[in-house]
Amino acid sequence: MIYLVEHFFSIQGEGRYSGVPSIFLRFGGCNLRCPGFGETIKDGEVIPGCDTVRAVYGSHFKQTWRTIESADEIEAIIASYIKDLGYRPDIVLTGGEPMIYANDPIFNEALGRIVEAGFRVTIETNATIAPDFVRHPFYSDVIFAMAVKLSNSGEPYEKRVIPEAIHALATRGRDPFFKFTLDRAIVEDGAHEQIEGITEGLENEVYCMPLGDSIDKLQMHAPAVVDFCLRHGYHYSDRLHVRLWNREEKR
Ligand code: SF4
Repeated sequence: MIYLVEHFFSIQGEGRYSGVPSIFLRFGGCNLRCPGFGETIKDGEVIPGCDTVRAVYGSHFKQTWRTIESADEIEAIIASYIKDLGYRPDIVLTGGEPMIYANDPIFNEALGRIVEAGFRVTIETNATIAPDFVRHPFYSDVIFAMAVKLSNSGEPYEKRVIPEAIHALATRGRDPFFKFTLDRAIVEDGAHEQIEGITEGLENEVYCMPLGDSIDKLQMHAPAVVDFCLRHGYHYSDRLHVRLWNREEKR
């Protein structure tokens, strides 16, 4: 059973393909909670977590998720966006954590068809789960944006850093890259050591992005993250969708 939270057509706001027209498929469910990233208030209840809690907490949001029962449904969604376009946008699978479906036959059939059709596909993942690259070779044509969580996520190290999964994704996908979320406190307190530890022995590009689901929060952390990138030679990634549309969803 796979759940789709939403789909939309926009520009990629983060990472290497920032600015590229992309069809986003946001899947429901995540194996982490990241309580350090903030909180959302729903019906008077404070829910700790990231800016996509609506894609994380099935307990609170599942009634808004759509159950996908066939790969045809995913193909039809993509077809509905591209029918009037004269080009192929990127396809971005995000969440939540899309790789919780790495063993789901419908998910894999849909992804295999999208890759086979020649789309450039990025999976935005927390890099704790690797797919079976032998059984499903199309994963080797997928770009993994590996958003491994640092200590500011509030998750324990053993849950957020799974070296075998990171290594598999970093070496077996197509041109994968790291994307870390930093705030101005962690920049001064261990971010570089943590990133070095996670990426040790790997050659993938590293992008660092400021924490923030609103323009105000983004701007609070962004200058420190830019300085950090300049100091250590990492790529800075902004959050274009937040700059342009602030807290609007489906952007
Ligand atoms: S891993 Fe990503 S989607 Fe899951 S709770 Fe953490 S920030 Fe949110």
